[in-house]
Amino acid sequence: MPILVMKFGGTSVATLDRIRRATKRVGVEVAKGYDVIVIVSAMSGKTNELVNWVGETSPLYDAREYDAVVSSGENVTAGLMALTLQEMDVPARSWQGWQVPVQTTAAHASARIEAIPTDNLLGKFDEGMRVAVVAGFQGVSSEGRITTLGRGGSDTTAVAFAAAFNAERCDIYTDVDGIYTTDPRIADKARKLDRIAFEEMLELASLGAKVLQTRSVELAMRYKVRLRVLSSFEEQSDEAGTLVCDEEDVMENRPVSGIAYSRDEAKMTLVSVADRPGIAAAIFGPLAEASVNVDMIIQNIADDGRTDMTFSCPTDQVLRAETALNAAKDRGELNFRGLVADTDVAKISAVGIGMRSQSGVAAKMFETLSNEGINIKVIATSEIKISVLVDRKYMELAVQSLHDAFELEKLG
Ligand code: ADP
Ligand code: ASP
Ligand code: MG
Repeated sequence: MPILVMKFGGTSVATLDRIRRATKRVGVEVAKGYDVIVIVSAMSGKTNELVNWVGETSPLYDAREYDAVVSSGENVTAGLMALTLQEMDVPARSWQGWQVPVQTTAAHASARIEAIPTDNLLGKFDEGMRVAVVAGFQGVSSEGRITTLGRGGSDTTAVAFAAAFNAERCDIYTDVDGIYTTDPRIADKARKLDRIAFEEMLELASLGAKVLQTRSVELAMRYKVRLRVLSSFEEQSDEAGTLVCDEEDVMENRPVSGIAYSRDEAKMTLVSVADRPGIAAAIFGPLAEASVNVDMIIQNIADDGRTDMTFSCPTDQVLRAETALNAAKDRGELNFRGLVADTDVAKISAVGIGMRSQSGVAAKMFETLSNEGINIKVIATSEIKISVLVDRKYMELAVQSLHDAFELEKLG
């Protein structure tokens, strides 16, 4: 029988009632003749609670134990969903990551899926099971320890299963009815897109649009998975939601397709470092070793052989970054006068494949922000995106004014 992957995010399984509602959607697809692999998230808020418990217990925690704790939310939902399906007389069974097994690297808290053997589940489908409910976000390393895939990782579990089982489609059920030109929660004028290109979604996701985890889009692109995002709260047709697809299949030609933002950015400045060959390596080497994800970097013009080096990283990695840089200083590998962390910034990005062929997008972006009196602190560009760092208090205003300036309400 053809296989369908259906993923339900945290808000879609937040209560027993919602689990029941999600289960009914699964029942509809089973009735159409599909064998279904359901990927579930933890109930809404659960993972945050678990993450906070870990942080309160141990600020510079052991990532193996972090994974042991935060992976547990999904286990509860998987069992409850399987029970609900059984109550509806649908033959179903729950699976934790290690049981499948979802084999991952040992990079705890940000593991990558390496393989998903299909024999176990296919064997059960052959025996009459119609739905396998798999706990998302988790796997097992070759050392036999539980791993997690990074926040939002259930999306990646879903796409990886769709690829491994050659599923007809991977449907991501969430609390919005598709992918919008920007987060509909902060811009009323956001418009739902019928289609979006993989490349654009990849940039939007990596720049903060958490509707899909970045890695899930990468995998869908690589393995040609039909990926769709739709609402778990509305009746659905086969054309509902937003399809993430190849660039050639997106009809419109637009310079900007979406605006993304990331609230969790910090700007760190090393004050007065020596301007000498090897200085960047002396700074960013220890940061990489401490697994700090450095994003934007600027080095100021040197004065008297000294310069300031500024970089951005996620807010929750500031402590790790400070520890790594101070340790390098103590070892005598690096010298700086001060280390200043500004955690009140946000990153705003405009994304669109049309930027490749249309000029003036950056100028329009800077002019729009300037008209609103918003100061730009750092700029970074690539072929299809322009990102700026601004004070966090201007985040919403920046997103809304850019949405207006690029006339995104006319899309969709
Ligand atoms: P789930 O729990 O289902 O995985 P998430 O909270 O991870 O859901 O992702 C859905 C949320 O993503 C939406 O509620 C919305 O606020 C946010 N979001 C951010 N950018 C976008 C966008 N461009 N289109 C749609 N949703 C977006
Ligand atoms: N529950 C995990 C999280 O909140 C994974 C997911 O929902 O995708 O990050
Ligand atoms: Mg999510």
